[in-house]
Amino acid sequence: MSQSFAPAHIQAIAPYQAGKPIEELAREFHLDPAHIIKLASNENPLGCSPRVREALAEAAAGLQGRYPDPNGFDLKADLAAFQQVPASWITLGNGSNDLLELASLAFLDEGASAVYSEHAFVVYRLSTQARGARHIPVPTREYAHDLPAMLEAIAEDTRLVFVANPNNPTGTHQPAAEVKAFLAQVWARHGARVVVLLDVAYDEYLDPAERADYAQWVREFPNLIVTRTFSKAYGLAGLRVGYALAQPAVTDLLNRVRQPFNVGSLAQAGARVALQDTDFLAQTYELNREGRAQLQEGLSRLGLEFVPSHTNFVLVRVGDAARVNDALLHRGIIARPVAGDGLPEHLRVTIGLPAENARFLQALAEILAE
Ligand code: PMP
Repeated sequence: MSQSFAPAHIQAIAPYQAGKPIEELAREFHLDPAHIIKLASNENPLGCSPRVREALAEAAAGLQGRYPDPNGFDLKADLAAFQQVPASWITLGNGSNDLLELASLAFLDEGASAVYSEHAFVVYRLSTQARGARHIPVPTREYAHDLPAMLEAIAEDTRLVFVANPNNPTGTHQPAAEVKAFLAQVWARHGARVVVLLDVAYDEYLDPAERADYAQWVREFPNLIVTRTFSKAYGLAGLRVGYALAQPAVTDLLNRVRQPFNVGSLAQAGARVALQDTDFLAQTYELNREGRAQLQEGLSRLGLEFVPSHTNFVLVRVGDAARVNDALLHRGIIARPVAGDGLPEHLRVTIGLPAENARFLQALAEILAE
């Protein structure tokens, strides 16, 4: 009778815990949704740009009942021009999450392993687990990736290494020169046997001087995939669109395991306009820079330890994070517990509008004084 529907590696999956939606909290605690603030999913507090909103309305009016372009010709052409790579080096994804999944489908199986940091984006673990592959989590140093240790951790059966830079949930960033040296060493030692997926979902929040020319890295390293998203700084989390850059041999493999229509027509249309709206991106960057300073100064005043952030969120040590999170929820504030990432004393808080940041800091001060 103990026969199970699924293999052991599927049964062992602990499902992804998404940031609580506003409507769910409103229902659970009988709160007015208009009074709830969500600082849990690293979304853009400005929403999406007015230009994208307009383009989406137009695209919606023209919907024909047809499938989207399975090859995303127009969006890929725009991205190719933007990244200065051929369109054949681009894979579109249903969010960049899709591309992480595609990489795990293409490169992992039950005889393989994947290397990533112990405190890295949880989907690396989930997609490795879903393939029945072996996990090789590598301890972080001061919350940041330990790239030399990750290099050494690559085993005989390792086929995929995940690196998020900047990293979620820690908000840390490794200097570009260190990451590039790591890529060069992985390629020199292992060649085409090991693929590295560099996830730069938060790149747009970095100081311009900290950013790197990832397209150039992809030209240099045939085993590199760089993933990017429209969900964060571009404000399109609800549309689900991201993309990967890789040389044609790797791109071809990702395409073999991709659903034919994985990115909808509205998502393709919205992403094209978002890419052009550089004013909105600049406004997002500036708002985030100021909000980050506001939050970090506030946390310092409260005497709390936090990890200096290079992203649109801050990881802060609050002690009994489950209690603090619950008290925040009762005040209509949704932050993100990260106990599942091995950080039971921390919360991750997304940088919001100035008034949202102030309300979070005020609530936190009250809760910690109780
Ligand atoms: N990578 C990292 C590091 C992330 O934090 C996230 C979102 N939380 C993603 C990828 C996936 O985002 P999306 O699928 O919306 O592009």
